[in-house]
Amino acid sequence: MKTVGFRSIVLYLLLAVLAGGAGYLIVNLFFHGSQWAMQPYNGHIYAEDATVKLGEIEDRDGLLLAATGEEGRYYNDSETVRKAMLHTVGDPYGMISTSVEHTMSSRLSGYNFFTGLNRTVFSQMGTDVTLSLDAGACTAAYEAMNGHNGAVFVYNYNTGEVLCKVSAPTYDPENVPEDIEENDAYRGAYLDNSLSASFTPGSIMKVVTAAAAMEKWPDSWMDRVYSCEGAEELGGDQITCLHSEAHGEQDLSSAMGNSCNLYFAKLANDVGAEALQKKAEEMGFNSELHMGSIPISKSEIDLSSCNRNQLGWAGVGQYTILANPYHMAVLMGAIARGGEYTEPVLTRNQDLFSGLTGGKSHQLCTAKEAQNLRSLLRNNVENYYGDWMFPEGMSVCAKTGTGEVGEGKAPNCWMIGFCDSEEYPYAFAVMAEEGTGGVESAGTVVSAVLQALK
Ligand SMILES: [Zn+2]
Repeated sequence: MKTVGFRSIVLYLLLAVLAGGAGYLIVNLFFHGSQWAMQPYNGHIYAEDATVKLGEIEDRDGLLLAATGEEGRYYNDSETVRKAMLHTVGDPYGMISTSVEHTMSSRLSGYNFFTGLNRTVFSQMGTDVTLSLDAGACTAAYEAMNGHNGAVFVYNYNTGEVLCKVSAPTYDPENVPEDIEENDAYRGAYLDNSLSASFTPGSIMKVVTAAAAMEKWPDSWMDRVYSCEGAEELGGDQITCLHSEAHGEQDLSSAMGNSCNLYFAKLANDVGAEALQKKAEEMGFNSELHMGSIPISKSEIDLSSCNRNQLGWAGVGQYTILANPYHMAVLMGAIARGGEYTEPVLTRNQDLFSGLTGGKSHQLCTAKEAQNLRSLLRNNVENYYGDWMFPEGMSVCAKTGTGEVGEGKAPNCWMIGFCDSEEYPYAFAVMAEEGTGGVESAGTVVSAVLQALK
């Protein structure tokens, strides 16, 4: 009897292992099957059967971006379009994990968990995807980046439709460079900088510091005056304004326009580390944001152990602060829409796949804060940067930034903002690495994209 008991235990154990393994396989296949089917090493699935074709990818106006032909996947005729849209569309080797070819592979391949990649009446066929992006705006952005690495993200803050998304360094998916793995010029080329990387923000952070002041002094924030001598000691070390320019006595509005570091460093110290940290987190820092199924690189802030000088620098977007371009764009979209942003989506025909592509609403600040920040950002363009640099009638609200990165490198140049316009409901974030200034290096890109979208 004892032996029989032992045998049945062994049998049950074996059964349990088998059931567990099969369960794991099924669950894994369910969640990753479509990606597995898309992998290059499974190319035979398509090659052996000409009736299996990946769906086409088009831009919002029907321009063909990717399709499958006799010799496999091919892309748009123009090299510039291919490079500008690489990180959105994808490449034939599946190297870009946030691309549409990767994240929407089940839809493109017609892969179905229950029927696999076959062509029974029950299976869905490979479906075409119409992106919300405008290829013309993407190429305009890529060209205006003028060889700089960085990111461009522009979306319609009412519908959530992404109109322009560009990341550099990039490469041509039709002619993948042979030295892509070794050449420093391509370092990070598989990453979409707008979604999967975070950078020193510099002065665009002043938007967050200003919001923290609005929360602390709801009725008197606009009257807080600080003086600036261009370079002053604060908390045992120097805080300096750009070119040590002395801005004199200012209120929050003029300090935002002048982008005065000393004003915001002093403001950050009076707001306090805890309140600034709390406000930044409310506004999306340290949060795991998503665009549909795509996880976004976090914007980071940690003021838990900073001294007065470091808190001053944190208030102007230095210290250890990092900002993600997608996050900055949706923060601008939230300010444009009374504090709530509509989660960006990449496709126009999202009816079938709304669960995957987002469209949800998220609160980042109060309606009152949004209104106040909008006036400050509009004042920046009207009275400091100049409306002349943007297409007429777009009523652009914006903030520039130059994030100092050290190591003898030129700064990250940013411009974030939105059009305060029913006709042009666009929010944007542009970051150009190693640039010369926010307006020159990033503002020109914003201008080119808005021109293309007009
Ligand atoms: Zn100053």
